[in-house]
Amino acid sequence: MRLAAHARFPGGVAVPRSLPIEERLATTAAALSDRDIPAVYDALFVYAGVEVRAGVMARTAAGFVVVEARSLNSVGEEHELDVAAVAWVAAQAGVKIAGARILHFDRDYVRGAELDADALFVEWNVPLRDFSADLSMLKATAREPEEPNVAVGQHCRHPRVCPWLERCAPPAGLWSVTQLPAAGRLLHVLAELAVDDVRGIPTSVRMNPSQQHAVWSLLNNREYIGQALLPALRSVCFPIRFVDFEAAQPAVPRWPDTTPLEQIPTQWSMHVQHEGGQVEHFEFLHREDSDPRRPFVESLVAAVGGEGSIVVYGGSEAATLRRLRDRLPEFGFDLDAVVTRMVDLLPIVRDHYYHPALRGSFSMKALLPAVCPELNYDDLRLKGGEMAARAWLRMVAPATPHAERKELGAALLNYCARDTLAMLRVRERLLAGAGG
Ligand code: SF4
Repeated sequence: MRLAAHARFPGGVAVPRSLPIEERLATTAAALSDRDIPAVYDALFVYAGVEVRAGVMARTAAGFVVVEARSLNSVGEEHELDVAAVAWVAAQAGVKIAGARILHFDRDYVRGAELDADALFVEWNVPLRDFSADLSMLKATAREPEEPNVAVGQHCRHPRVCPWLERCAPPAGLWSVTQLPAAGRLLHVLAELAVDDVRGIPTSVRMNPSQQHAVWSLLNNREYIGQALLPALRSVCFPIRFVDFEAAQPAVPRWPDTTPLEQIPTQWSMHVQHEGGQVEHFEFLHREDSDPRRPFVESLVAAVGGEGSIVVYGGSEAATLRRLRDRLPEFGFDLDAVVTRMVDLLPIVRDHYYHPALRGSFSMKALLPAVCPELNYDDLRLKGGEMAARAWLRMVAPATPHAERKELGAALLNYCARDTLAMLRVRERLLAGAGG
């Protein structure tokens, strides 16, 4: 991302981030004052105790334009404030500022054989503003002997999750209405009624079915199992194939016919359960620094065969295959056939089951310890999809040592396999609980 942004302002001088602050300041000042240098990368400025780093200082006849590249498809107010603050500090430090811009991705950009750094980005002009009053207010607050008494609210999560959130908002208790599923609108209603405990919800309050199941489950301190759970779980054909994908999401498109921040599938896992109970496991992991999509599709289509249900958890697998169908139309028929055979376990669970330990979440990470406590993710090196995405990019990076590549490959295979085994075990356990 940084390099792609630098390529847009060629011929610049970088201020090494590894230098001590004083040297970075001196290097910045020297580069800015040299009229033969068209741009300065990673320039450092300090004013009144505030330190900022500017991604690119682009020289123009009217002064310098602060340019920050952001791994985004669109710009929000919080991003504008970030860049305006950098420009303001640089101006207070004595630099003539002609403007500020954010480079963000053009969501319509599709990479050709070569990366086009000009077409990849869109420039967004950021209004300059004066932060003097904000800085005075922050410094006055910091001087106070006591921390300000501010209630936890939306500002703690948006635009970013505050790093102090766990301290300010300890985990909600079991009976808290915040632990109900998808409770956003319901919480407003309950707040107006001053109800914060599940046991105090009036019968007149309207809740959706999964919220009603959750309340029933909490009040009775046991699982809710709806009558329709058993037939829904049985609505599959053997052999049942439990399938999960993992994907990487390179910010800058790495391969032709990909877009910025596109999710590129890199591996799949499949546990197959036969009618007699026998279980087999199959998997695929693309280990090269090359476009994984074609080998991913070829291996998947061959592995799922032509019969049996394909059980997934959530809609991302179907969405991935629909995207691949558009990119690899020669596989369109096969991919449509795979999507047609998919059965999503998530809405079945959400609509017909609840466990007090779910705490409002139907994610597999919440469901597995509630339903199959003996099977969890604790022993795995990778514990989530984002970690897996980063691990794949590291695994295929040319500079990664061979031994680490092997370790990362094993960790990725273990993680994806756990997801599909989890689905299989959860379905078995729910079937048993529903009398199947
Ligand atoms: S979590 Fe962060 S934003 Fe929210 S009240 Fe605490 S310190 Fe302020």
